[in-house]
Amino acid sequence: MTNEQKILQEVFGFHSFRQNQEEIIRQILNGKDVFAVMPTGGGKSLCYQLPARILKGTAIVISPLISLMKDQVDAARDTGLKAEFLNSTLNTDERSEIYSNLTEGKIELLYIAPERFANKNFIETLKTIKITFFAIDEAHCISEWGHDFRPDYLSLSGIAENFPAAPVAAFTATATKIVQDDIIKKLRLRSPYTVRASFNRPNLVYSVQRKENINKQILNYLYEHKGVSGIVYRTTRDSVGKLYQFLSDNGISCLPYHAGIESETRKRNQEYFNQDKVDVIIATIAFGMGIDKSNVRYVIHGDLPKNIEGYYQETGRAGRDGEPADCILFYGSEDIIKMNYFINQMESEKERGIASQKLLRMSKYATYNVCRRTQLLEYFSETFPESNCKACDICLGTAEVIDITTEAQIFLSAVVRTGQKFGIKHIIGIITGAETKKVKELNHDKIKTYGAGSHKDRRFWHYIADELLAQNAVSREGEYPVLKLTEKGSEILTGKLNISGIKQAEIREKTKALEKSKSLFHEYNKNLFGDLRVLRKELATEQDVPPYIIFSDKTLHEMCAVNPRSMEDMKEISGIGKVKLEKYGKLFLDRIRFFTGE
Ligand code: ADP
Ligand code: MG
Repeated sequence: MTNEQKILQEVFGFHSFRQNQEEIIRQILNGKDVFAVMPTGGGKSLCYQLPARILKGTAIVISPLISLMKDQVDAARDTGLKAEFLNSTLNTDERSEIYSNLTEGKIELLYIAPERFANKNFIETLKTIKITFFAIDEAHCISEWGHDFRPDYLSLSGIAENFPAAPVAAFTATATKIVQDDIIKKLRLRSPYTVRASFNRPNLVYSVQRKENINKQILNYLYEHKGVSGIVYRTTRDSVGKLYQFLSDNGISCLPYHAGIESETRKRNQEYFNQDKVDVIIATIAFGMGIDKSNVRYVIHGDLPKNIEGYYQETGRAGRDGEPADCILFYGSEDIIKMNYFINQMESEKERGIASQKLLRMSKYATYNVCRRTQLLEYFSETFPESNCKACDICLGTAEVIDITTEAQIFLSAVVRTGQKFGIKHIIGIITGAETKKVKELNHDKIKTYGAGSHKDRRFWHYIADELLAQNAVSREGEYPVLKLTEKGSEILTGKLNISGIKQAEIREKTKALEKSKSLFHEYNKNLFGDLRVLRKELATEQDVPPYIIFSDKTLHEMCAVNPRSMEDMKEISGIGKVKLEKYGKLFLDRIRFFTGE
């Protein structure tokens, strides 16, 4: 057994390395720069925590958000690592104590916010201690090409020059190839050992549902998942506020989060969520960066995200512990109109172009009759090798495919007969035989397709419009988006080409992730799990840390499945190292014995 493997078991309590971890650690130990793209939950922290334990001196970890540093440090300490953080929340005494511990070499891991590196004095101070290496978390924040650019990160460019002896290891969960090259350049990494792990997250179950009565649809899902942690994203602060009101009126344990909420309250809401004091956080995308909560069981998007990077990152917050989790997107074509409006407000033409391309990819994800996982991976230049991923609505068959050629022809015909000068709403009005002023004034009640689709409702026709747009049968242009037929659209209209679309199931795939968990993972006793959760929560409250820091859901599930009877048994469970075994082993063992009546 190598020294690294020994420490993995003794300190972290894990039986084996995950993909790429061992090699990255070895490179850091050999003093080489590293650049690693690994999916959320892939185990990036271990890649710097483990060498920090081995090397003599202090490893510096740069992490973007001060508010989350405490959690990260608590988690590291709970494993027995000597970790501290330095940021503006500390007072002078606390700071000088840390400095003296640093000079005495008593700190293995020091977490620091990026803005500190803009300060020359700070850099001079850092030069006086023995630094083993730098780890840069969320490294994509340094690239303007990424979706989360933070100017503070630019000051990290100086690290390689200021500390030539220390290797730099950069980590991120989202980077296209362009962003990857940009990060390496900006951080001035010296021919880094580069890892581009698969972006696939096999435990995430992706699905898209037609957006109808969004608040109610979300409520239905949450009713079925009470007592389980999850995140619901909405685009605007207003929709967050309203949804929050609606859900709490209906007895859902939830809290809101957006940039408009006063910072103390916002912080508290995040903490309550982190500590399992509420089930659900309703948030704008301001929420989530660097959240390490491992037991998030679902991420719901009530609106179409701007781009796939963002969607992948947000859904990535589900199921970090490797257990099944749902990623549900509610989609309606009105979202595209709204987003296009905002894109059109952008100053630079180049930015507008990039933003619309990205939005188009996103809407294809929502509407295309193609495996969702394949589409996500394709975006990051990865080919998914299977034809059926078994964990998205398309592959699971919950999104049924139907032939929509006839309906498409009715729609396209109305577009052509009105001269390709109108938008979706008006076309649908014509097809459904609406008696609006506009229809009458333009004599559109006289054309052949008027009322030809009145056997279906407007929602259905919106859906047809979405499919036609996503499958490039029509294009939409102009200030008041006007529909025009593409070549493909003409072929469908003349009967040369058929088109099929996703039939939107009613909300019936709610429990997919849970069903999957039965087949793929240990069958575990739910009541015992409930008991252990309570114990975990008690311990967490005592120590004022989030429960998942004590043990992850995965560790608890395993306890319930294998039913350990001794401390020896306990030690075998994934996620229990020496320190945690001593701290919590007996407590959990007693609780299990009590439950099983032994
Ligand atoms: P990332 O930062 O890449 O999103 P984390 O470092 O937060 O992921 O790790 C996600 C989860 O995986 C954590 O609960 C962590 O303890 C666990 N983990 C990491 N490495 C291993 C391993 N080798 N075996 C089992 N679990 C692991
Ligand atoms: Mg991380």
